[in-house]
Amino acid sequence: SKRNGKAQATLFEVEMMRDHRHTRLIERELRAAILLNELELAYQPLFDGNQEMVGCEALVRWRHSLRGVIPPSDFIPVAERSVLIDLLGEWVLRRACRDMKAFPNLCFNVNFSPNQFKRDNVVAMVEAVLAESGIPAERLVVEITESTAMSDRADVKARLNSLRELGVKIALDDFGAGFSGFAYLQAFPVDIIKIDRAFVSKLGATAASDVMVTALVSVAHAFDVKVVAEGIETESQLELGKLAGADVFQGFFLSRPLSLAGIEALYSARLGSNLLPRSKAKCKA
Ligand code: C2E
Ligand code: MG
Ligand code: MG
Ligand code: MG
Repeated sequence: SKRNGKAQATLFEVEMMRDHRHTRLIERELRAAILLNELELAYQPLFDGNQEMVGCEALVRWRHSLRGVIPPSDFIPVAERSVLIDLLGEWVLRRACRDMKAFPNLCFNVNFSPNQFKRDNVVAMVEAVLAESGIPAERLVVEITESTAMSDRADVKARLNSLRELGVKIALDDFGAGFSGFAYLQAFPVDIIKIDRAFVSKLGATAASDVMVTALVSVAHAFDVKVVAEGIETESQLELGKLAGADVFQGFFLSRPLSLAGIEALYSARLGSNLLPRSKAKCKA
């Protein structure tokens, strides 16, 4: 009835209002959290085929004084709707550079949101943060998503290329989860692809997915692109990922995201357990 319709519309408006207020509240709290240093980075190690740690990925967490640890999926989308994402992105990069100074053999990956690449100053920001921390650009891997990479905007592409000219590597995150395919590798220069967990989790389950990952790896290698298999949760996925030819592996089976102290422990265990001196930064991915 008309009455019902009106009641629903009102309810909808109330919901909208609540939603909007909720968003504003998170925005305000997040801004404060960045200033008050309530954000933290966890680091998930990346391993080569010999299960040697070659790098790690910085993953942001928000330790809220009342609500406990909030995962990025709950606040990154809110940050992305405003300039907060720039504040947050710069904070993450600066903290990661500072933390990673202690591990000169490791590469480190930092996730960048699509909107960060819409700013004129993104390249200057990265250059400045690297310079102030004294970290060689070659150690930094910027992870972008398909929506950044697929952007038709010439300026986004130009910025990605400028980062590569600095020596920064570009990794395409969650590859295969959306529309990106083989053709993409040719159309857009990236250094690394990270095969999405959705693919990796099917390794061993169907012959088709094993064939698919193997094909993906050979095409990537033909374009001189390294391949990370992410979301490795079982030993069998690790073995099949190796068989498929992937270069680097990441996932809960190998290691959960760790605190900086956890990375430190892994790093020194590795240095201590090797009789042969390790080469300089290997930066496989
Ligand atoms: P992502 O970049 O694809 O990161 C991988 C996510 O998968 C992480 O979740 C990680 O904890 C989780 N993961 C790793 N291995 C496994 C596994 O074996 N099994 C399962 N089920 N999950 C695994 P997290 O930390 O919650 O991050 C979620 C997403 O939030 C990230 O996905 C990334 O897109 C975004 N994110 C995280 N930190 C940042 C940041 O500093 N800036 C931006 N812009 N985005 C970030
Ligand atoms: Mg990532
Ligand atoms: Mg990923
Ligand atoms: Mg993912």
